[in-house]
Amino acid sequence: MEIYLDNAATTAPDPEVIEAILPFLTTHYANPSSAHGAGRRVKEAVDNARRTVAHLLNASPEEIYFTAGATEGINLALSGAIQAYELNHVITSRIEHKAVLQTLKRHEKEGDIETSYVKLDERGNVDLYHLENLLRANPRTLIALMHGNNEIGNLTDIHAIGVLARRYNAVFFTDTTQTMGKARFDLQGADIDFLVGSAHKFHGPKGVGFVYINQKHELKPLIYGGGQERGQRGGTENVVGIVGLAKALEVAYRNLETSQTKICKLKQYLVSKLAISGIEGICYNGESKSIENSVANVLNVSFPCLSTGSVVTKLDQLGIQVSGGSACQGGGASHVIQALACEADKENVRFSFSKFNTFEELDHVVDAIVRIYESDPAIATGKAWKRIASWA
Ligand code: PLP
Repeated sequence: MEIYLDNAATTAPDPEVIEAILPFLTTHYANPSSAHGAGRRVKEAVDNARRTVAHLLNASPEEIYFTAGATEGINLALSGAIQAYELNHVITSRIEHKAVLQTLKRHEKEGDIETSYVKLDERGNVDLYHLENLLRANPRTLIALMHGNNEIGNLTDIHAIGVLARRYNAVFFTDTTQTMGKARFDLQGADIDFLVGSAHKFHGPKGVGFVYINQKHELKPLIYGGGQERGQRGGTENVVGIVGLAKALEVAYRNLETSQTKICKLKQYLVSKLAISGIEGICYNGESKSIENSVANVLNVSFPCLSTGSVVTKLDQLGIQVSGGSACQGGGASHVIQALACEADKENVRFSFSKFNTFEELDHVVDAIVRIYESDPAIATGKAWKRIASWA
């Protein structure tokens, strides 16, 4: 039995998405830039997709640019803003995705910017007072702070950050890759200059995403070419991906409350099962255990080290797919975990759920973890683990 619990990495395409994209692989394959009827029909599909995304986010279609994923959108927004406004100071955090951190590193290396890292508390939450102090000291700053963290699930108060950005005349980019399709956005009423989405994180195809660029901005293109995406991104559009992205977002928002309620319950169920598993020394990283302060589908758990390998690898051998990093066998924890006050001598495992997961799957997963700990020679001697009566 295969159990997929790595939905923060990518998700299974929704059947409605597959149905929507099939005609664009078979019949409607014309180039949307072609002037003939077949091309015009495909262009209409791209335009409709843009309208759908804009409508769902309460933005205008002119503010949505399709890209090859969130990474490209992040590069476009960050590099574009730094260059267009000659911003020489960026505020970010140590737990952003590498797509943000590496883009900023490049600009730092080239002498374009100086980077300030906002203080985080021990659970990885942004210190808004520190952010305000940094903004006060550095007018005309670019803020790059994510909405939902991909490893620990922490939700950042992007409304509060947007208000600060306006107050101090800063430009605000937020990485919404992990919250797109999971939280509602009203971009007309938000103080957000740029945000991004990646279709494969919300049951759409891989290699396609979008960047929202508030209409008051005009950025230089990242990719020069035939003038597609209103000159922002040259190259024939990924029509199949774009149609799939819009359908995936439509399905996600149509079923948002039902899916999110189910996913919250899955998270709570796994926490409650682990609590009675008898494995001692389990703890939760960041805010991931909190229903209010984290993305519903991410649960990041620290497990005691095994003497015989890694929990992630052993689960994989049993057909259970999760992500993680370990300080146990000399490996390194991720840059996110290292930035937190986590227990360093543990293995951290990210379980990430989707609407397709079931409670029965979680029963299997916890049974598997218990068996893994039971069969570990060091731990079975009672070093870090003991079975409780109800499981005996
Ligand atoms: N930002 C965050 C928070 C992510 O989780 C990811 C993907 O893991 C990305 C950016 C990059 O997305 P993509 O690989 O689809 O470009």
